[in-house]
Parts: sequence; structure tokens; C-alpha cells
Amino acid sequence: MTTTPLQPRITDIGPPAYDKYLPPVIRKNYGAWKYHEKLAPGVLCHVAESGDRLYTVRAGTPRLLSIQTLRRFADLADKYCDGYLRFTSRNNIEFLLEDATQIEPLKRELVTLGIPVGGMNNAISNIVHTQGWVHCHAAATDASGLVKSVMDALIDHFTQEDLPAKLRIAVACCLNMCGAVHCSDIAILGVHRRPPKVQSEMLKKACEVPTLIASCPTGAIRPVPGVGGKQSVEVIEEQCMYCGNCFSVCPAMRMADAENDGLSIWVGGKVSNARTAPRFSRLAIPYLPNHPPRWPEVVDAVVKIVDVYRGEARKYERVGEWIDRIGWPRFFELTGFEFTRYHIDDFKHAGMNFARSAHVRH
Ligand code: SF4
Ligand code: SF4
Repeated sequence: MTTTPLQPRITDIGPPAYDKYLPPVIRKNYGAWKYHEKLAPGVLCHVAESGDRLYTVRAGTPRLLSIQTLRRFADLADKYCDGYLRFTSRNNIEFLLEDATQIEPLKRELVTLGIPVGGMNNAISNIVHTQGWVHCHAAATDASGLVKSVMDALIDHFTQEDLPAKLRIAVACCLNMCGAVHCSDIAILGVHRRPPKVQSEMLKKACEVPTLIASCPTGAIRPVPGVGGKQSVEVIEEQCMYCGNCFSVCPAMRMADAENDGLSIWVGGKVSNARTAPRFSRLAIPYLPNHPPRWPEVVDAVVKIVDVYRGEARKYERVGEWIDRIGWPRFFELTGFEFTRYHIDDFKHAGMNFARSAHVRH
């Protein structure tokens, strides 16, 4: 018998060196930039100590991209930027130009292709989001569908810088909170509203019971004998707050429920240290239904927050800073959202939690 020799395995090589793909003007002026200025919505100019100028045109992307779309981006970069481009930390794309006369033709071509230019400064930039029903087993809602629906309604705030300050929106499809929902001006978060259904038959084969019990933040899971005397667990339902953490570690704790899963809306988080300290987002709406494909209730709620904030906040005030100034009662009054018992923090199980909760405290 002949055996094919194994190919040598290439491993632990890390990403390419960070400077390998830098445009020449950035390589030349690295660490020697003097200032930058805004030329138009979505267009920046960086000026180096050498006098060199770098023009950046930022455009929105849906994040979930086909190879065809990436090739189209690469073609545009070849045509206008000597083949250089970059993606931002909010999954926008930036084209980096040295020739200012190419800015307008590039913008025209992007807009013709349906790719909006903007997302800088006092605008709504891309929505940081997660996998949703496209790829994750834990999702209580979708991500891409929600993001498309919300951005369609807010697109004018992406292409124009017409807000008091930058406004960051994030989506996460379960409260694992992959991404930035816990620290965004507006956050949309998938929630369950029913305890897990324990599938005893599968549990013993698929799960490590001590890990499963330890995964519950409220101690709601306890061991019981299952079918045929095999080990299983039960959930003390009045102690469960439907976080889904047990399902993350054990697929026999089914959480998804088409009728009762939905969304919550959170406001006022930020990560920067400008003016005030970073802060967590706090609960604004405990539950809205999952209504794909356009989630009208969620879109209306987000547009409402943006409109009220835009009308009421002072220049440079982020959503959380604005709410600090006017107070939560006024926030609920202005938005018309109902203040409920679900807004009051009752999570006692984490030592530092009381001072740092993302909920409203009264
Ligand atoms: S937030 Fe939850 S459902 Fe969404 S990608 Fe992360 S783990 Fe999956
Ligand atoms: S959903 Fe959360 S609170 Fe409920 S049993 Fe599972 S881990 Fe515990």
C-alpha cells in the first residue's frame, strides 16, 4: 500500500505584518501627521508634517459581504487609490487617495453602485452587529435583517452630519452581547422570555452537568435523576431570567421560541473618555416583538430616540450625557416609552454589580 506523504503543515505564522499594505503616503508619514480636517460628509483630509495630504472617503458596507462585492471594492481601489483600501472598526470601508481630484468621481461611482458615503463625525455610522439567524445557534433575533431595516430608516443621518454628536448603534442577537451593545448610544438586543426546555435524553450524552449548573447566573439549575435513572437537571422557573447561558454550554437546554423571543432597546452607553467617563447602556424598552423582515416596532423605537435626542441634546452631548442632564423621568416622558418594573435592577448576584449595572437605578 502506498501512502501519500503529508504536506508540511504551516502554522503559527500570525497575520501579515501590519505595515505591508500601507499606501506609500502613509508609510512615508507614519507617526508624523499634523492635523486632519473634514472636507465633506464622509471625506477627511490628513495633513502630514511634510506637507503631504491623504484623502479618505468612507462608505458603508453591510459587513456580510460576498466575494463579488469585495472584488468590486478592490476594482474601485485599483482605479482610484493604487489598489489601497482599509476597513474601519465599525466595518465601514475607506478608500485612501492622494489625488484630491479623484474624490468626486469615486463618490459618484460609489453612490451609483448603491454604496452610501458618510458615517463620520456627528453622524450615525455603521451598526456593529452579530451573526443572528445567518450563523449562530443562540440567536433570539436576527442581526443582518434588523440592521438593514434600521439603517434604511436612518440613512440620511449616515450621509449627513446633522446630529449633536456621534451616535453609535449596535445590535446583538442574544445577551452574550458579542460586539458593542453594552456600551453604545443605542443598542438593540435579542432576548428570550421563557425558561429553557430541558431535553433529558440528549443532556447526559451532550453536556457536562457541573459546568451546566455553574453556567447559571441565578443558580436556577439543579441536578435531578432523568429518564432511566440517568443524570439530568431541572430549572427552578421562578428563578430563571431567560439569559440563555445554559444553552451556550449545553445544547439540551433549548431556548429558541418563535412566539416569545424578541428585542430589548438600551441607551446611553459610550466608550470614549471625552468629557465624561465611559458608561454602560441602560434599559429603555424591555421587549419588542420579532417581526421580520422589517421589524417595524424596533425601527420606530430607534427613530424615536434619534429624533428626540436630535431635537433636545446640546452640541457635543452624547445620548448618555443628554439623559444625565435631563434625567430618566424626562427621557421616558419625551420618548413616550413606558417605565416598568423591568427597568429596576434586581440582579444581586455579582458583587460589584450594584454600582455598575446597565439598568436604571432608583
Ligand atoms: S450575540 Fe449571541 S446569538 Fe449573536 S452571535 Fe453572539 S452568541 Fe451568537
Ligand atoms: S436561561 Fe439563564 S437563568 Fe435560566 S436556567 Fe438558563 S442560565 Fe439559568
